[in-house]
Amino acid sequence: MVFQPQLKILINRDEIAQAVDRLACEIKRDYRDKEPLLVGILRGSFVFMADLIRRLDLPLELDFIRLCSYGAARESSGQVRVVQGLKAPMRGRDVRVVEDIVDTGITISFLLDYLKRRRPASLKLCALTDKPSRRRVSVSIDYLGFTVPGEFIVGYGLDCAQRFRYLPDIYVLED
Ligand code: 5GP
Ligand code: MG
Repeated sequence: MVFQPQLKILINRDEIAQAVDRLACEIKRDYRDKEPLLVGILRGSFVFMADLIRRLDLPLELDFIRLCSYGAARESSGQVRVVQGLKAPMRGRDVRVVEDIVDTGITISFLLDYLKRRRPASLKLCALTDKPSRRRVSVSIDYLGFTVPGEFIVGYGLDCAQRFRYLPDIYVLED
């Protein structure tokens, strides 16, 4: 039989848009008169990043980094690698990291350490979703969209083995 996953809606597109507006206001408030550098983590954060920058109304720059810890499995391997590095110089910049989801926290704490070594003026984390029930490494999230349950979610940039990224809402994947 063909594998037919069930998608159950968790966060709809209007709720996402409201959260993106709120996060943009919070970031704008902190960075008035500055030119922050937004660093998106590929590939999951690209949809969120695209919506967020258009709400920010700041003369920002952006860059992307690609990390690898997952493969096709749903569990973090615990080992993180930089697959594609950053082009923009970091030193002295106000850096905001934009992440789709903080799960165990292993990926983001690796990245924050990696970026700190490049001596930014400030470094903050903006995450669309957080799964605190699965945390293994403590992470402080400066700008958070939603706290979500420990289940696997897809849509709005988030995939399962590269599927479902195009969905405009966020779903729990039930199999
Ligand atoms: P962590 O290192 O915090 O365990 O995992 C972080 C990364 O795993 C996220 O950036 C995301 O790419 C992926 N991830 C964690 N939980 C989920 C989930 O529920 N759905 C999807 N699609 N990816 C997830
Ligand atoms: Mg990710």
